[in-house]
Amino acid sequence: MADCVFVVAEFRGGDFRRVSYEVASEGRKIADALGVSLYGIAVGSGVTDKASQLGFYGVDKVFVADDPALESYVAETYVPVIASIIEQADPAAVLLAASVDGKDLSARLAARLEAGLAQDCTEVVCEDGALKAKRPIFAGKCLAWCEWAEDALPMISCRPNVMDCRDADATREAEVEAVAVEIPEARSRATGLELDTSGKVELTEAEIIVSGGRGMKASENFSILEELATELGAAVGASRAAVDAGWRPHSDQVGQTGKVVNPNLYIAVGISGAIQHLAGMGSSKYIVAVNKDPEAPIFTKADYGVVEDLFKFVPAFTEEVRKMKS
Ligand code: FAD
Repeated sequence: MADCVFVVAEFRGGDFRRVSYEVASEGRKIADALGVSLYGIAVGSGVTDKASQLGFYGVDKVFVADDPALESYVAETYVPVIASIIEQADPAAVLLAASVDGKDLSARLAARLEAGLAQDCTEVVCEDGALKAKRPIFAGKCLAWCEWAEDALPMISCRPNVMDCRDADATREAEVEAVAVEIPEARSRATGLELDTSGKVELTEAEIIVSGGRGMKASENFSILEELATELGAAVGASRAAVDAGWRPHSDQVGQTGKVVNPNLYIAVGISGAIQHLAGMGSSKYIVAVNKDPEAPIFTKADYGVVEDLFKFVPAFTEEVRKMKS
């Protein structure tokens, strides 16, 4: 008989990422439906002090692996630590974030634990004690429901910004248990890249995104999108054409071969709306398109369309936002 549901939290730059709270909230729902406890796993450097806060979002007990060597996500160190915690229980399911790190981690964990992985899910339901998870397939053109054989361990990675997050209940701290960490030899083969401490809003967690495409014409022109983004508290994204031109880093790319985003508001500027771009942002709540070509395909997906030269429209729009704020 399974005795728990596990959620794996992501601790980066001194705090848990918002998606971890969404995953914890979803885990609580499943644990309640199955009548079992919800356990959290928190791995990182300096994570101990914050671990009990996962309780605010429904976690009952958190297993903490805290070590300076775990500062950044490195598969060789994270996977054995997390797998050994999970192996000591009999979980009904394991939930993680479908973030860049989470997708890598979940695939490796699933292989090690012989779990059945449903990647990048947008909904999880529990029917008569059995889990079902919904995930977009074929670049979002279809939705598939995944089910598990009775003896399989369901592992589910949850798409950021899609599942409901409970309101934090600061009276509900989780119990915290430290676990011994042995950093494997293989650690020396890989090192984490430097953490981004610029304070930039992470694309997959942003409520508002302003994205630029080939219509921006040059790297330096993105400064007008940066200004608008600053006023709106938004993140800046890009189409692949802008990334391939070297105007933006690949980490800004939205689409089939970039990031999948789900903001409340997505403003596409000088982006035509190719199917591969739509695959990454088509499920945004509101889409605004700015394009001088009234026939651009992006307008078939947009809730609001602005047919105008972006170099006229964007600075004027930024000015209006500034006025509204003052
Ligand atoms: P374009 O299609 O060239 O569009 C530029 C737009 O800017 C035009 O509509 C034009 O009217 C408008 N414009 C120009 N000047 C102005 C102006 N002054 N004012 C207003 N509007 C203006 N693409 C992605 O984005 N993400 C992906 O992840 C991705 N993955 C891919 C994977 C594969 C396997 C393949 C084959 C392609 C992929 N692509 C991806 C590429 C995709 O097919 C398109 O080529 C790309 O999205 C086009 O980018 P764009 O809209 O910026 O450029």
